[in-house]
Amino acid sequence: MKRFINNNIAGLEPPRTVELMGIAAKMKAEGRDVISLVIGEPDFDTPLKIKEAAFDAILRGLTHYVPAPGIPELRKKIAEKLFEYDQVIADPESEIIVTPGAKFAIYLSLMTFLQDGDEVIVLDPSWVSYKPLVKLTGATPVTVALDPDDNYRLTREKLLPAITKKTKVMIVNSPNNPTGRVFTEEEIQILADIVAKHDILLISDEVYDSIIFDGRNNISPASISEIRDKVITINGFSKSHAMTGWRLGYLAANKELTRAMLNVHSHVVTCAPSLVQYAALAAFECQDDVKNMASEYAKRRDYLVPALNAIPGFDCRYPEGAFYAYPRVHFKGMNAMQICSYILENAGVLITPGAVYGEGGENSVRISFATSISNLEEAIRRISAVLR
Ligand code: PLP
Repeated sequence: MKRFINNNIAGLEPPRTVELMGIAAKMKAEGRDVISLVIGEPDFDTPLKIKEAAFDAILRGLTHYVPAPGIPELRKKIAEKLFEYDQVIADPESEIIVTPGAKFAIYLSLMTFLQDGDEVIVLDPSWVSYKPLVKLTGATPVTVALDPDDNYRLTREKLLPAITKKTKVMIVNSPNNPTGRVFTEEEIQILADIVAKHDILLISDEVYDSIIFDGRNNISPASISEIRDKVITINGFSKSHAMTGWRLGYLAANKELTRAMLNVHSHVVTCAPSLVQYAALAAFECQDDVKNMASEYAKRRDYLVPALNAIPGFDCRYPEGAFYAYPRVHFKGMNAMQICSYILENAGVLITPGAVYGEGGENSVRISFATSISNLEEAIRRISAVLR
């Protein structure tokens, strides 16, 4: 049977985070009292207006194919959001594609532009799916390890040596999963300089852009006019509107790139689900819900970080965005993987070992705060009890 499998996916494993969520579900089904902090999705319900709009779309019979790049009304709203919130100019007619999830938008970009022999710069740590998605295309991910002691800051010195003649794409993500970092103006400028000088495309994954703390702003690389035509901006509704199961994302890119991606998109999926697109129109009237969720995450972060730092061995910075804390942890000479197993076995709390996000994560763990404060309090109580 092995000979039937595409070489590019031999060795591909399911995302470890999904696997961990499965372990937690299984343990719970067996009656064990497990608190899972590996959650990569909002614990809030999708805003009611969006649900009502979905019902309405079904009842109005808006359940057939729609234009491949997405319904024009939604592309227009997305273009307005991109302009007002991110200062990104995208023509709704020709520079936006609505996709089934942001993940598919990333896949679509990689699939359209990469082939055997190409190299793609991926940062370490980074979201679990970038490297596997690059490998699916036959291209090779080239890892740039960021320094935890330097708060995972992006520097010219780190990036430049990784660029070769084969480099075609660089993928970045801010606000970042797992580190919680949000790019500063200086980091965006470094990216802009590098993309302007080299013949490479930049994929900028901004799916957590509505969850940013302490008055910081999301700076979209595509807002810098010099590189705008070389940036593919990725976003979606999963994290901002608690719509993970609806599967709706989008990308914005220059006309020519969009045309190429649209070709692939229409052959592979035809279009993103029609009724979900109609429902998403209502998402633009849910700014209060989006803000309330972000301020709830901020409260949880403000509880969680000092509570973690009070446990011997934990060293946690305040995440600047997204809903993950990414502390380093030291306990009895164990690596983070062993510490996670120890905590799961002895405290019944599931957290994600940093190695899942790259080799540099050997001593880090990711703790999701997309869960209630009472769950976080109980988890902290249990972890403190077993690590003391
Ligand atoms: N990008 C990052 C950094 C993520 O963390 C996730 C989901 O966990 C996605 C993309 C995928 O989002 P979607 O649900 O829109 O496919």
